[in-house]
Amino acid sequence: MTNPTGAWELPDELSMLRDTVRRFMRDVVTPLEDTLEHNATGPSSGQLHDLQRRAREIGLWALATPESFGGAGLSVLGQCVVAEEAAKCRMGAFFPALGAFGGNPPSVLFKGTPEQFERYGRPIVEGRAGRPFTAISEPSGGSDPARAIQCRATRHGDHYVISGTKLWTTHAGTAEWGILYARTGELGDRGAISCFVIDANGPGLTKRRIGVMSSYSLFELHFDGVEVPVENRIGDEGQGLRLATDYLVHSRIPYTAGPIGIAQMALDMTIEWCKTRETFGAPLAKRQGVQWMIADSAIELRAARLLMYQAAWNADLGKDVRTDASVCKLTGTETAFRIVDRCVQLFGALGMSQEMPLERWFRDLRVKRLGEGASEVMRTQIGQALLA
Ligand SMILES: Cc1cc2nc3c(=O)[nH]c(=O)nc-3n(C[C@H](O)[C@H](O)[C@H](O)COP(=O)(O)OP(=O)(O)OC[C@H]3O[C@@H](n4cnc5c(N)ncnc54)[C@H](O)[C@@H]3O)c2cc1C
Repeated sequence: MTNPTGAWELPDELSMLRDTVRRFMRDVVTPLEDTLEHNATGPSSGQLHDLQRRAREIGLWALATPESFGGAGLSVLGQCVVAEEAAKCRMGAFFPALGAFGGNPPSVLFKGTPEQFERYGRPIVEGRAGRPFTAISEPSGGSDPARAIQCRATRHGDHYVISGTKLWTTHAGTAEWGILYARTGELGDRGAISCFVIDANGPGLTKRRIGVMSSYSLFELHFDGVEVPVENRIGDEGQGLRLATDYLVHSRIPYTAGPIGIAQMALDMTIEWCKTRETFGAPLAKRQGVQWMIADSAIELRAARLLMYQAAWNADLGKDVRTDASVCKLTGTETAFRIVDRCVQLFGALGMSQEMPLERWFRDLRVKRLGEGASEVMRTQIGQALLA
């Protein structure tokens, strides 16, 4: 396989996969989406189930899950290609994120025991269970979980007792279970956080929905003496953050592909608009100021996409991609937001209206600069790596 950042073309099998996703989005997702309200979080559970069945029939399933766990074992580069295409729709942030093409258990389960995988992971891979939540962030912060996590798991014989509060937990409204990171050691000690599978509806757990500037529903979770059996701990005691870090680093790369797909679609729409929209006696496309906005957007998008491909390529080679993933996530999400902002500007009031997807993309992309590591945290990581 040739390095796509050098050859400018994707390998044939990934081009074919991209075409499959493109057809699925055009023939299945777009017609459904046209029936939904602008601000609908996503399709209803019945519609989503039907979408997932159809995606599964053509092999768009469990793509990020290793073959040894029953998945497709798609490369990180392949995951980026799929996520980028899947984002090219009005619900662009929903599809790659929630996975209309589902079947991927939280990756920490690949590091658990075979029993844990059979009980919690296998039903997801086989399409019998929905998506769980992951609860790391707390009122005390999300960027620095080693210090911020105060939610405690205290061992009592064959079980732990969980007490504390988690914040901004996506999917907690629908999930049957979730992954929880809680403190089992001293405050401030990085090796003091452990990872658990917890029942989303058990006694002692209360949820409060929090509205945010995005198409997601987030929840506050309050744990008041929730009992979790010891066999639900993933990895050793104190190993939780290491498991989470491995997952977060790699997931930042395909996470970037959604924003890049959205920005591409916004730019394509804006180019067509500028050719026909006339002001002061000429189409916008004839104005140099507009041409430069389009040119800057295309250049920045091309660069961001190549940085993503490079990070994915290095991840697939098994290299340490902590810095690559930070560069990719920071550049991709910031670039996509800037481009959609320019597109809103060029569409005028129409760009801000809910008659068009730009307004929704703008809000959803704003979130991407915070989620999975804020831009400043990415910069800090890159700077520290360079200066070490
Ligand atoms: C839509 C959405 C979905 C989410 N889903 C989940 C979820 O499912 N599970 C979950 O656990 N969390 C989730 N989060 C929370 C998210 O992970 C946190 O918002 C993120 O980690 C930042 O944490 P914080 O908001 O507490 O900000 P803080 O950690 O308090 O940081 C505040 C800001 O300070 C800046 N900053 C931080 N550190 C530095 C530094 N070293 N140098 C300079 N500036 C810095 C950054 O701009 C940062 O955004 C979600 C958030 C959103 C918006």
